[in-house]
Amino acid sequence: MKIEMPLLDEKKRLNSFNEIELGFTLEQAMQEAGRCLQCKEPLCEKGCPANVGCKAFIEQIMLGDFDKALEIINEKNPLPCFTSRVCAEENQCEGNCILEKQGKAIAIKALERFVTEHGKSHWKKGKSNGKKVAIVGSGPAGMAAALELNKKGFETEVFEALPQLGGILSWGIPGYRLGKENVEEVLKDLKKKKVKFRTKQKIGEKNTLGDLMKNFDAVLLAIGEGRARNIGLSGVQKEGVWYWDEFLQSFSTGQNKLGKEKKAIVIGGGNTAIDCARVLRRIGCEATVAYRKNMPFMPCNKSELIHAMEEGIEFRMQLVPEAFLGEKKLEKVRFKKLEIEKENFVETEEKEEITADICVLAIGQQYDTTIANGTELEGKEIKINGNKTELWGVFAAGDLANDEKTVVHSIASARKAVEDIEKYLEGK
Ligand SMILES: Cc1cc2nc3c(=O)[nH]c(=O)nc-3n(C[C@H](O)[C@H](O)[C@H](O)COP(=O)(O)OP(=O)(O)OC[C@H]3O[C@@H](n4cnc5c(N)ncnc54)[C@H](O)[C@@H]3O)c2cc1C
Repeated sequence: MKIEMPLLDEKKRLNSFNEIELGFTLEQAMQEAGRCLQCKEPLCEKGCPANVGCKAFIEQIMLGDFDKALEIINEKNPLPCFTSRVCAEENQCEGNCILEKQGKAIAIKALERFVTEHGKSHWKKGKSNGKKVAIVGSGPAGMAAALELNKKGFETEVFEALPQLGGILSWGIPGYRLGKENVEEVLKDLKKKKVKFRTKQKIGEKNTLGDLMKNFDAVLLAIGEGRARNIGLSGVQKEGVWYWDEFLQSFSTGQNKLGKEKKAIVIGGGNTAIDCARVLRRIGCEATVAYRKNMPFMPCNKSELIHAMEEGIEFRMQLVPEAFLGEKKLEKVRFKKLEIEKENFVETEEKEEITADICVLAIGQQYDTTIANGTELEGKEIKINGNKTELWGVFAAGDLANDEKTVVHSIASARKAVEDIEKYLEGK
């Protein structure tokens, strides 16, 4: 049978902002790796958006060479300490494992995490090629690109708008899923290899993209889509209604308290919505997630959903918000009910009002278009095709460039962007 990821003691889980999933022990890892069939055509690798060599790294676990296993993972994924905690393995490597048909897929994500905890990485700064690349944004795409460029001998400087580095991995995904020490470790390593980081440097204000284009040989935009998309519903300005970005930025570490035993509603069905609800539970609220479709359609990771249910979060399906009601403060959220007609979810005339002191809107994300300031595209959106933008010498990676907004896709696209930058600078 598949060995499940060990978890923190049940009683501690709900109070904890520390990681609740614990890594495999040596014995568990060896036993789980030993179940791998070492398929001739490993479908798990096709299922991985970064195409990590799962078969080969699992073989190295069996042989007890964890450094080699990490080297194999790093060939395609420079930051497995993140992906092995937050990937949706059920749709990726493990979902494609041949043993999944019998419900016994190899626990590839847990094995990847084991390797990051037991193997040593030996990557080195490459011999300087004299070329300078500016990276805007320090999330997983920015960090992965900085690492890959550094290995190839480029001088890299990362510009970050916020006071803290790490993007959504720092302020968005809460510590009970991704311990912040993992982000700190990666940043420490990058700084040691002479990657320069500049915080509180929002490109588009004093320093613009136009300036970076003049001062660097190439620019990589890795600015993510870390801003909520505003919705024009009645009462959205009321006290108690939050957008997911401002909510997570101030509450993800648990240092802020809303007051205990409040009733909270989170609107949405992705990882962001579930994390907002789990944070609300941890700060003492009763939390309900309202989603417009049914549970099988929820785009969040399966493990997130399971943990949320175990933590007592309620789920209400087939509801779309219509208005936020109350005198000055939020008192109720009015929803329209949806029904299924010929496999589509359609709105009905039926309404439901749910009492709530707090509502978090976790639907929609966007990027800040002021990034184009100082260029010929000021005031406009920058068109992106793959990892290239319409601006000469400016590339893009991560959520900004990807349809699939995940950490592993961000890392994979950063590697591709680095290849494009390398080709672009070959002739310069
Ligand atoms: C709550 C939540 C939970 C999630 N859970 C998961 C999960 O379980 N699994 C998963 O795979 N993915 C998850 N995601 C998605 C994942 O976090 C993103 O896909 C990923 O972080 C995108 O990486 P990025 O580097 O492109 O952008 P980001 O992580 O958003 O980083 C972009 C950085 O650029 C900076 N920036 C923006 N504009 C400027 C500017 N003009 N100048 C300078 N700096 C700028 C930002 O401040 C930020 O630090 C989640 C997202 C959220 C919000």
